[in-house]
Amino acid sequence: MNQPPLLPGALDGATLRTLGVMGGGQLGRMFVHAAQSMGFRTAVLDPDPASPAGLVSHLHIATPYLDAEGLDRLAQSCAAITTEFENVPAPALERLALARPVAPGAQAVAIAQDRHAEKTHFLRCGVPCAPFACVDSPQASAAVQATLLPGILKTCRMGYDGKGQSRVANREELLAAWDRLGRVPCVLEQRLPLAQECSVVLARGWDGHMVHFAPTLNLHREGILAVTEAGGDVLPPATADQAVQAARTLAEGLGYVGVLCVEFFVLQAGSAEARQLGALVVNEIAPRPHNSGHHTLDSCDQSQFELQVRTLAGLPLVQPRQHSAAVMLNLLGDLWPDGGSPPWDQVLSLPGAHLHLYGKQRALPGRKMGHITLTGDDPQAVRRTALQAAAVLGIEAF
Ligand code: ATP
Ligand code: MG
Repeated sequence: MNQPPLLPGALDGATLRTLGVMGGGQLGRMFVHAAQSMGFRTAVLDPDPASPAGLVSHLHIATPYLDAEGLDRLAQSCAAITTEFENVPAPALERLALARPVAPGAQAVAIAQDRHAEKTHFLRCGVPCAPFACVDSPQASAAVQATLLPGILKTCRMGYDGKGQSRVANREELLAAWDRLGRVPCVLEQRLPLAQECSVVLARGWDGHMVHFAPTLNLHREGILAVTEAGGDVLPPATADQAVQAARTLAEGLGYVGVLCVEFFVLQAGSAEARQLGALVVNEIAPRPHNSGHHTLDSCDQSQFELQVRTLAGLPLVQPRQHSAAVMLNLLGDLWPDGGSPPWDQVLSLPGAHLHLYGKQRALPGRKMGHITLTGDDPQAVRRTALQAAAVLGIEAF
């Protein structure tokens, strides 16, 4: 499908120049920043009156995601609409799509919202993922193949940052975990021996043209992304190529329009699982910019958020170029002292430090408050500086 480009800076009425986003979190905020710097007006729909994106947008519609009036107001205000989180209710996107171009589409978002649908898509596209089974009843739990244990039980819907998951060693633990997760539909995944985790962020336009960033190496702690390294040879070239190819195949198979992140596991070389599945296994997709792509704000000539604006507006997609090596550290609420703030002055005295705070008004443990990216020419030097930043902030070394 082709869409005529929505040129920024058009002077024929505010409506035509406004881009909308469902969700007002940090990803929405960075989309708003990118859209505004290119000359668009922005509108955000998020029920939270203090949402990070709502605070910086021209228009903030603070209604529930399924509120018909709020949705219609968003559609009337905007020339096109995107989303910043995958749990936007599909009916909301469908309603918006009746009035305006919406990217990514409700169907692709619906697949990314449901781990079972997502894995079915992986298999349909011939991209290997962790062996899995559906667990939606005590009978299904009793019937899972023994080879899936030890495994990880994950709710099909609404999981993020490691929430809605439980590691299980045997059938007894599996049943108890399914109970604890609320007896909702789940998938049990075989626990794989991971050597590394990586991800690819790509953008696909209305005409099917795709561009991508180089794969990044990602370190998770307690199910939450902690560190992303990008640039240099963070991955062997053959693995990186394979990841990009797989990500493109998955986007193509969805008829996807927008920015997509695909997360992968690199399995331990020589393990039985690597022999069975191959060295690279897809974990999941996010139908939006991703935390592992935040470094692009400071390390590339176009950020993932600029690509989101370009795809939504039907503007040309040009392969981005990474000009600096980068290490990104997530800044979680745990780092905030009572009534104060972390020692940003010390961190900002380091070369190539870029601080991004999301304007959240309460620091909670595990809550993503911001990130800091260290950039430079030499990947090893950047890594050393990032370790210094981590030490200053009290983030565990990596
Ligand atoms: P996010 O919000 O970061 O996307 P999530 O809640 O969707 O997280 P997953 O990506 O499914 O959760 O898993 C979180 C982390 O748990 C993974 O990054 C990985 O470190 C570990 N993990 C998940 N599934 C497996 C598996 N099958 N085998 C081994 N480790 C796994
Ligand atoms: Mg994940």
